[in-house]
Amino acid sequence: MNVTTDLSGVIASGMCIGCGACEMADPSVSVTLNSKKLIFEPSSFGSQAAADVCPAISVDYEGLQNYLFPQSKIGPFGVVRSVHLSQSTNMDRNVKASSGGLIKEVLRSLIANNEVDGVIALDHVDGIDFSARLVTTADDIDTLPGSIYHNLKQTSALTILRDTPGRFAIVAIPCELEGLYSWVYQQAPELREKIVLSVGLLCGWQYSHHSINAMGEYLGYDPADIADISYRGGGPVGKLTVTTRDGEVFSASRRVDFGYQVAFDRHFNTNRCHVCVNHSNFLADLVVGDAWLPSTVFTKTGVSLVVCRTEFAEQTLARLVADGSCVSLQVTEEEIRESQTDRVVFGEFAYAYADFLRELGLHTPTLIGPNAGHGQLKPRRQVAKFHRELVRKQALMANRRYRYLKYRKGTLELRAYIMRYVRWFMVRIVRIKSLSGQRKEIGRDSFSGFR
Ligand SMILES: Cc1cc2nc3c(=O)[nH]c(=O)nc-3n(C[C@H](O)[C@H](O)[C@H](O)COP(=O)(O)OP(=O)(O)OC[C@H]3O[C@@H](n4cnc5c(N)ncnc54)[C@H](O)[C@@H]3O)c2cc1C
Repeated sequence: MNVTTDLSGVIASGMCIGCGACEMADPSVSVTLNSKKLIFEPSSFGSQAAADVCPAISVDYEGLQNYLFPQSKIGPFGVVRSVHLSQSTNMDRNVKASSGGLIKEVLRSLIANNEVDGVIALDHVDGIDFSARLVTTADDIDTLPGSIYHNLKQTSALTILRDTPGRFAIVAIPCELEGLYSWVYQQAPELREKIVLSVGLLCGWQYSHHSINAMGEYLGYDPADIADISYRGGGPVGKLTVTTRDGEVFSASRRVDFGYQVAFDRHFNTNRCHVCVNHSNFLADLVVGDAWLPSTVFTKTGVSLVVCRTEFAEQTLARLVADGSCVSLQVTEEEIRESQTDRVVFGEFAYAYADFLRELGLHTPTLIGPNAGHGQLKPRRQVAKFHRELVRKQALMANRRYRYLKYRKGTLELRAYIMRYVRWFMVRIVRIKSLSGQRKEIGRDSFSGFR
């Protein structure tokens, strides 16, 4: 139990992530969109019960991991039984998916084998609104979207879990599972046994809706006219695609479009992402992310990085390989590190930035994950500079100065912007780490059967 008595600090700091646990714990709380910050947050301070389950106040990673994975060894990547690179063998499913299409294969298989009565997963509602839905047939799984990167209210996943009898698989980003399990563990333990498998996404960040508005100015759509939005699909990196109500389609390459680099840089993230240490989704049974590795650069359709934290997760993956729905290659934890970078998997920036915010006396969530102490904290001057930039750029966003933010990226921030591409090229294409003997890449012949 924490000493914070309500959600006032969360609201003042803009640290809410929209998981909805507070609404479940305290029905007087309602999570709504803040019209200036363009993130979801509680509209009132709520009670101690709400504060106790809020991941923007604290998360008991050790207690929750012991609760979910009893007697398992906890390492810097959480509880890890095995790590894999995997890809759906269904071309269409793989191309439409965000990485290797593995999640949809897992969900389809659980339903087809009657291991769950349904899947609780995010689906499109309307415009930029997405919400969890109960899916009960394997074919319906293919209608679910790929990764949605903007901030959402996730309460519907919790209400479906609470109100529907049955056994479920649930798909969620890390902070969503933090809220869900904090609430279940403390206040609704009877729900634990309803979750047969939690499928977690690796997650580096989500974005406030300022990103979508800024892209509207750069691409020429009105955000109020959006009928649908998608961020991935059509290849390993994919495009941002916005469809307006009159059927017009606007798209931008996520890797090279300059406007995209402005609107989706990390200053547009929700505030809590900057102190998040749970990129690896420590609470999910089966975790799926992108395999951003020199050895997978050849892929035409995307490869998933998969972490199995339970025996059932491993059995599910093995069955997909045995029935030909997936190809998979077992690798080591080193590939999680290389794919995602030490900066995020070990929270090198997040722990340093949290210390900095505490020094300033600002509300800072208590987040001490199993990765604490495994990376090299970023220097204070770097986090202080980031904080100055963040305050400045958030003021510009609040005043909708998106064009000026673009100009700023092309001038003041140009050096950092170019260096990002240089680093990507050196690591992924030139394979500088292998050339300098820092690591050994997986050989191309190990990927037989992958596209
Ligand atoms: C906000 C966010 C940040 C991410 N950051 C990283 C990262 O830094 N590194 C990395 O390797 N991978 C990251 N991922 C994961 C990656 O983008 C893919 O989602 C993942 O590899 C699964 O791909 P797939 O092809 O198996 O799934 P897909 O077939 O694309 O299926 C996606 C599934 O996720 C669900 N879903 C989509 N968006 C959300 C959401 N916002 N909240 C809850 N459920 C959702 C959908 O309902 C669907 O079931 C992130 C995903 C999200 C949503």
